[in-house]
Amino acid sequence: MVAKKKIFLSPPHLSGLEQEFINDAFINNWVAPAGNNIDTFEEDLQAYLNKHVYVVALNSGTSAIHLALKELGVSEDDEVLCQSFTFSASVNPVVYLGAKPIFIDSEPDTWNICPELLEKAIKHRIENYRKPKAIIAVHLYGMPYKVDEINKIAKFYDIPVIEDAAEALGSYYKGKPCGGFTEMGVYSFNGNKIITTSAGGALIVSTERQKDRIIFLSNQAKDEAVHYEHTEIGYNYRMSNVLAGIGRGQLKVLQERVESRRKHYDFYKENLKILGEFAFLKEPSYCKSNRWLTCMITKSFQMREHIRKALADENIESRPLWKPMHMQPVFKHALSFTNGVSENLFEKGLCLPSGSNLSSDDLERIVLTISKAVK
Ligand SMILES: *Cc1c(COP(=O)(O)O)cnc(C)c1O
Repeated sequence: MVAKKKIFLSPPHLSGLEQEFINDAFINNWVAPAGNNIDTFEEDLQAYLNKHVYVVALNSGTSAIHLALKELGVSEDDEVLCQSFTFSASVNPVVYLGAKPIFIDSEPDTWNICPELLEKAIKHRIENYRKPKAIIAVHLYGMPYKVDEINKIAKFYDIPVIEDAAEALGSYYKGKPCGGFTEMGVYSFNGNKIITTSAGGALIVSTERQKDRIIFLSNQAKDEAVHYEHTEIGYNYRMSNVLAGIGRGQLKVLQERVESRRKHYDFYKENLKILGEFAFLKEPSYCKSNRWLTCMITKSFQMREHIRKALADENIESRPLWKPMHMQPVFKHALSFTNGVSENLFEKGLCLPSGSNLSSDDLERIVLTISKAVK
């Protein structure tokens, strides 16, 4: 039997516009972590954010979080509050700096960091003379977290927020693009994200001084001198000018990519809800999610696994929702503030193929496979 065409969860989707910018880098021999594509990609992202912010293109979203924490002064034995329901890259950089993550569970409306638990955690740590150094909040699956509520708490206790918008480029909260709501915002352009540079990321900061600092740290912390002089430890985190060319081409089709993924969500919801078994994350009226991945909540762990295996048998990739960080073996000693929300989502939730290049035949095949599995 011939294997059926593989359907991936969230593959890259090139537009054809990338090639011209890549060629430009080759022709001008700026095949380096410097050049016109990087400068222009940063300007394009700044224009997209439509706000007085500064963008630094880096080699990953993880590096962006690392440098954000470093710039906020997080160091050994500091504590950082982090959304538990996320990908490990949100929190790993806390550990790179020798600091300690403390995990905060989600609220059920957006599946993101719960304001009540966040405040409870802050009070608890302050009572123990350990005021947290930063908060990492995540717009998971592209759904904006409760920005106003979180910012209000953060402001009251005077703790900076890193906005992990790695999955939320193209999402809006109260009419404004995700990524620019706090001291530091993070995008990822990894191959599975809504637009890609194959690997890449960006850090959004508020001042030119911060931007200069981030570029300095991301480019090996070279002091001004004719030789290489260093008074600080640097990193090799800058984006390549070739990859920034891919980013320029991808950014031009961002809105189309968002609309495709939103249509896929609508299609799944429309065609699967008749089975009566599944729930989908609703969009609050004041939000527009990029619907990076469509997530389906089933009735039980057994049902989720049954469907996942049925899809796999048809060569269709799906994946359980993120396993919360407070349940991860590597973080078993970390303090956490939980309410059962993310554990329940992890147990019953499945991410469905959501790439913007899915065809209607692909979508029909996926829905048919799920329908057959639950009958
Ligand atoms: C992808 C992702 C990151 C990390 O981005 P990379 O570019 O892959 O390093 C961070 N946080 C979240 C929530 C992500 O999904």
